[in-house]
Amino acid sequence: MTNDRAPVPLTAESVSEILRDPDSPLFPTRITVFCDRYGCETKDTGEYMVSTDMAGDQRLAVARQHLADNAGWQHTEEGDDFCPVHAGSPAQAQLTVELSSAAGTLTVGATEPVPGLRVFEIPADHAPLPDHRWVLAHHEGRALGLFATAGDANGAASAVASMADWTRNAMTTANAISLGGNVERFALALMAHGCAPAAYQPAAVSRPDGEV
Ligand SMILES: [Zn+2]
Repeated sequence: MTNDRAPVPLTAESVSEILRDPDSPLFPTRITVFCDRYGCETKDTGEYMVSTDMAGDQRLAVARQHLADNAGWQHTEEGDDFCPVHAGSPAQAQLTVELSSAAGTLTVGATEPVPGLRVFEIPADHAPLPDHRWVLAHHEGRALGLFATAGDANGAASAVASMADWTRNAMTTANAISLGGNVERFALALMAHGCAPAAYQPAAVSRPDGEV
């Protein structure tokens, strides 16, 4: 009998080997790994070779390793399992914004310099103002201003960060600015960072990915 075989995902070869070797400590078992993202019901069930002297978490580790190496799953240091759709820590997750225009819908990457505020760049061939392609937008989609550079847009976000809780909905944040007597200060803060004149109403922006 051999004890030096590492636990491996089940293959036809290892099954036939185990069947021929009644003394082997390895046996096939069915292991299911569930995605730990709230609301996600994805799971993966597979047959794995484990040994009689492995504890439950060691057996689960075999499945986790296999899924991470072969199926795009992630097992975090915190102990969570994420399916291929949800793999990647929140810090690495790419925020995206969908832009609607006459030409159709396109998706662009975005950042969140202030909780609830998004900054993204409109591709040149979709930008209504070619010199002001950087958008500062409320997370629900409403554009607050257009800027020449990412630095300007991020600076404007910082300047207005304290005027409202931008993670709230658009109506609530607008009320917070209005009731706080900050309407003029808000406009001046955007203009101070080179915000384009407000004559232009940017393309409708839908709710970005990443919302709960
Ligand atoms: Zn998932």
